[in-house]
Amino acid sequence: MNVVWFKRDLRIEDHAAFTEAASHGAVLPLYILEPELWQQPDMSYRHYAFLQACLRELDQALQLGGQRLIIKVGHAVDVLDDLKKRHAIQALWSHQETWNGWTYERDKAVKRWCQQHNIPWHEPAQNGVIRRLANRDGWAARWYLQMSKPTVQPASGLTKIDEKSDALPPHTTLGLQDDGSVALQPGGRSQGLTLLRSFLTERGEGYTKEMSSPVTAFDSCSRLSCHLAFGTLSIREVFQACQTRSQELKQLPRGEKGKWPGALRSFSGRLRWHCHFMQKLEDEPRIEFENMHAAYDGLRANDFNEDYFTAWKDGMTGYPMVDACMRALKATGWLNFRMRAMVMSFASYHLWLHWRKPALYLARQFTDYEPGIHYSQVQMQSGTTGINALRIYNPTKQGFDQDPEGVFIRQWIPELRSMDTSVIHTPWQAASQMNGYPMPVVDEKLARKAAADKLYGLRKNNVAHKAAARKIVTKHGSRKPGRSRTAVKKGSRNDAQGELQL
Ligand SMILES: Cc1cc2nc3c(=O)[nH]c(=O)nc-3n(C[C@H](O)[C@H](O)[C@H](O)COP(=O)(O)OP(=O)(O)OC[C@H]3O[C@@H](n4cnc5c(N)ncnc54)[C@H](O)[C@@H]3O)c2cc1C
Repeated sequence: MNVVWFKRDLRIEDHAAFTEAASHGAVLPLYILEPELWQQPDMSYRHYAFLQACLRELDQALQLGGQRLIIKVGHAVDVLDDLKKRHAIQALWSHQETWNGWTYERDKAVKRWCQQHNIPWHEPAQNGVIRRLANRDGWAARWYLQMSKPTVQPASGLTKIDEKSDALPPHTTLGLQDDGSVALQPGGRSQGLTLLRSFLTERGEGYTKEMSSPVTAFDSCSRLSCHLAFGTLSIREVFQACQTRSQELKQLPRGEKGKWPGALRSFSGRLRWHCHFMQKLEDEPRIEFENMHAAYDGLRANDFNEDYFTAWKDGMTGYPMVDACMRALKATGWLNFRMRAMVMSFASYHLWLHWRKPALYLARQFTDYEPGIHYSQVQMQSGTTGINALRIYNPTKQGFDQDPEGVFIRQWIPELRSMDTSVIHTPWQAASQMNGYPMPVVDEKLARKAAADKLYGLRKNNVAHKAAARKIVTKHGSRKPGRSRTAVKKGSRNDAQGELQL
């Protein structure tokens, strides 16, 4: 019997591990609910709520194929050991996983167990992330190749295996607290497919322009991130659906295409970024915990201001755009890219908080938490990669640009609902209308300047910084198409990820 271990790939479509295992005989589809994982500081109730819906649908899909999903609660090694007592395990199958430090250590333990018992562990790739990558040259071409391969058809006609499934424990047993969120995205593949269809045919036309404003982004972005993070859809399926739609549009007369071609190009590029950022964690797992560039070690470590951190988490910094975002995130589990970048930048620069605790808080808040993207982005928005141009968002300017009428602010900050639009982004100028909303915790201009001075001071004329940054670019930097590592020119700026080729 072959054990297929479902991890962050909760589907049977385009699931190489499942289909290949089934071609070798009977399969036991297994999901291991690991209580220790759920006790890690980056895990939360909203992830668990999403997971439960995904598992329900995965079970239904498997039952149609003849064998239901077997859920086991425990550490992976103990679960496999226990299964081995009752079944002759021919091989273990699962997709390669690039996730947090805890799952990395657990995978090492499973590998040792497999070697000990002479059980082969087959791990096909599940996205464009490449294991044991020598360097980034040619990475994008390999990504396109991987995305263009035909999707894998699901196996059916499974042999029924007699094995008891455990009940999923209630969230309280796992130490998770219902966080009072009111509008979380529902999990499950059917939800993912509906979003994919509506984005590609109805919602996505204004994507390029509307993705930046939280007023429009909740509808105009694909909202597929949770589904990609839990693997209810494969990134290849999404990429290919986007390609098919692009081909259909090509058949239309010029005047009928609208803004769709540009929107789909932007979207498709972001699917590549998904793997580009995950590749960084795959290549260097320590960036979950440590600065990517060592020159920034100790920079903020001893200055952590708990009061600022609490104000930021609670949406009480006195900067309406930051606070509306933090409150919206708490309620919905999602924010668009620009607003994620702004809240992280505000924590790291204006509040001068070391990125690690804010990153964990955001990880728990984002239903789509994907460590590879998350920690790479967190470090990029905190200025600790050493290879990115510093981008310090001014939250007041972001308010004027992205929410000029204060629609989003009024939606999430009831205290400011009746404030005049002329002062909605600077409520401290109309203290009598603030209704208990706080004054700014820091002076934006002074705080931004202090942070910029420290960061630029550290970088300026620093030969050692440049040398280390060059190594980071070689390891992690995206290459312009057709450019090899040796062709990276001094001082030129790379593509949309904003990586500086130093
Ligand atoms: C501080 C910070 C933390 C982040 N943490 C996460 C995270 O934990 N999980 C996560 O999926 N994304 C993360 N992002 C990236 C991005 O904000 C989200 O992917 C996006 O907002 C998800 O919404 P969507 O699916 O509607 O995206 P769309 O705009 O519709 O994009 C489609 C897909 O492309 C990928 N994508 C889009 N933008 C990016 C990007 N900038 N970098 C990498 N991939 C991208 C995602 O898989 C996304 O689902 C983070 C960004 C920042 C600034």
